[in-house]
Amino acid sequence: MTGAAAEPETGGIRFEQVSVAYGRNTVLDQLDLTVEPGEVMALLGPSGSGKTTALRAVAGFVRPASGRVYLGDRDVTGLPPHQRGIGMVVQQYALFPHMRVRDNVAFGLKARKVRKAEIAARVAEALELVGMSAYAARYPRELSGGQQQRVAIARALAVRPGVLLLDEPLSALDAQLRSGMLAELARLHRELPDVSILYVTHDQVEALTLADRIAVMDRARLQDCGTPQELYRAPRTEFTASFVGNANLLPVTVGSGSVAFAGHEVKLSTGEAATGATATLCVRPHMVGLGDGPNALTGTVAEIQWRGSTHRLYVDIGGHRFKADLRELREPPALGEKVTLHFAPEDAVLLPAADHEAETVAGAAHG
Ligand code: ADP
Repeated sequence: MTGAAAEPETGGIRFEQVSVAYGRNTVLDQLDLTVEPGEVMALLGPSGSGKTTALRAVAGFVRPASGRVYLGDRDVTGLPPHQRGIGMVVQQYALFPHMRVRDNVAFGLKARKVRKAEIAARVAEALELVGMSAYAARYPRELSGGQQQRVAIARALAVRPGVLLLDEPLSALDAQLRSGMLAELARLHRELPDVSILYVTHDQVEALTLADRIAVMDRARLQDCGTPQELYRAPRTEFTASFVGNANLLPVTVGSGSVAFAGHEVKLSTGEAATGATATLCVRPHMVGLGDGPNALTGTVAEIQWRGSTHRLYVDIGGHRFKADLRELREPPALGEKVTLHFAPEDAVLLPAADHEAETVAGAAHG
């Protein structure tokens, strides 16, 4: 895609070695990431990990110290925000309080000098998309938080952007509204299948629900990138394993065809590492069974929590606290009881020990 400035882009987003620094503080470190046309990419990570900075680099509100940002084939690194043809929604709606809903939605179109009749049609279309047609004449103060956020989304969509940037768009809403809006966003994406969406969140449920792929950020760096299922089943780093879903992360010593954990031999179906090396074994708590089986581990029950559909057992195994989420447990073991747990070789993933993670990050970026 080439296209004149402010024309909608449909070619996705590409970060090429993008770094951003404030003073001496590098807050985004050589980000390499591609969002395909029509793809929803979540940037997931803890507060301060650089997610918003990455998004603002796409919007044009921060200038990278190095690297390039592309929209489709167009290098937009040096372009001002209004020439990028992007729609953006931030956490705090940021509607103009003195303007009616329809004028808020029309704002970007007027700035782009779109003809009046065309503006009216596009405003109607955008409000229809978010289910807010009936509220066109209201002022923002006459709307709930969820409705205001819908208007903010309509305003971003009115310019028919090829790229939509969403920065924690649901975090100002209460839990119930949030889950409704999540479904709304998923529907919106189905109705706008060509729009690439970059979605910043620290909430793994939002990322898992909405995203085609998730880019996991930590301390200014991309840690991992993949579909939700890939990250869940085959995380590449300890950070991803613990940030996406729940994980037992066990220190192991690598043998030939198996690993040793606290005096137990554990078989794996995949994973390569040099014999004798230390590594981390990731086992999801809900993939663990009670009783004898493959990869049996014995230990002492240290704590039991009933969580409605499951019991969470914490079992001390050789000084490590192992978590197991067990369903259909009619008679849970007693505290202090000796139990055996097991898991299938294919449900264990071998990861580099955290100290060695830096080496794997570069590989993860190109996934
Ligand atoms: P996230 O979105 O993951 O919470 P941000 O990208 O907002 O993280 O911030 C990354 C880091 O950059 C944080 O340490 C933050 O304090 C710092 N930062 C962000 N904006 C500025 C700024 N304008 N000036 C100085 N530091 C900033």
